[in-house]
Amino acid sequence: MRPVLHPRLVNPPEADPAVYIPFNFQNRSLLFDLGNLEALSSREILKISHIFVSHMHMDHFYGFDRVLRLCLGRNKRIHLFGPENFLSCIEGKLSGYSWDLVGHYSHPFTIVATEIQKDCQVYQEYPCSTGFQPVGAPRIKPVDTKLLAEPSMEVIYTCLDHSNVCLAYALAERFHINIIGDELVALGLSTGPWLMEFKNALYRQADPEQEFEIAIPALNGQKIALGALAHRIARITSGQKIVYITDAVYSESNIKKMVKLAESADHLFIEAAFSEAERSLADGKKHLTAWQAGTIAGMARVRNFTLFHFSPRYGGNTRFLESEAQSAYENQMGMDRKT
Ligand SMILES: [Zn+2]
Ligand SMILES: [Zn+2]
Repeated sequence: MRPVLHPRLVNPPEADPAVYIPFNFQNRSLLFDLGNLEALSSREILKISHIFVSHMHMDHFYGFDRVLRLCLGRNKRIHLFGPENFLSCIEGKLSGYSWDLVGHYSHPFTIVATEIQKDCQVYQEYPCSTGFQPVGAPRIKPVDTKLLAEPSMEVIYTCLDHSNVCLAYALAERFHINIIGDELVALGLSTGPWLMEFKNALYRQADPEQEFEIAIPALNGQKIALGALAHRIARITSGQKIVYITDAVYSESNIKKMVKLAESADHLFIEAAFSEAERSLADGKKHLTAWQAGTIAGMARVRNFTLFHFSPRYGGNTRFLESEAQSAYENQMGMDRKT
């Protein structure tokens, strides 16, 4: 399977947390968390459609200004999600500037924010045209763990205990469609926007007997049914699952939620601020140790995991944290095999 999603840490693992997820062949990407984004190019930032913020400690929210600065004056709506108090933190950021000259911009940028509370979700829009004043009263919606639900993928969240609420997120493709290049050539077809239409028809499970819009040169310009075309040019496999967990206490209820969210993920990004030898420090600062992170990765049976959020106390010398997490992961996987 050629993966569509190529997630990566924006910064080295001892620097601000953020995971950038570009989509292959699409001018689009998602972002988990909003630490310092100087390492991303302007082009990369302008591709972002949705940003999922874990919480508003400064190392997770500092990058907001760079997104704002780059999107200003562009025809763009950017969707942000975050925990309790998210809207007032966004409003606080926005009120730190003077907006008297932006009302005439011909390409109005809009921030669309959703605050995830325990019993509801609060939605508000902040258009550049009003100097980022909120439009009307906030809309209250019932709790829905699916923050993004598109035909091809979804993003869900869980609430973890940190010093306050911290959100962890999972992005899951429903299934994955690979196009077989040789078959395209054999049918005389070339790539183009129609392929996205074709994939979308499969994602929304359109009637396979229905004729698909593309004329097939190798069949004298005839059209064929969606199902027959899919049988010929598409290979369908299970989709990717990417999970992001940061700033969490190692408590029984958090462990349960983290393992459930990360279950069978292809790639888990998980914080590991301290070494197990400094567990009391991790407990006090409400972070995970590398051993705990590896244990969660093993319990969830993830395929790969990447650690981040290393405490600056280790300098660049963090190899041992990775070894510690790897041992815990292997230990857990071994224990699981025996039971
Ligand atoms: Zn924090
Ligand atoms: Zn943090």
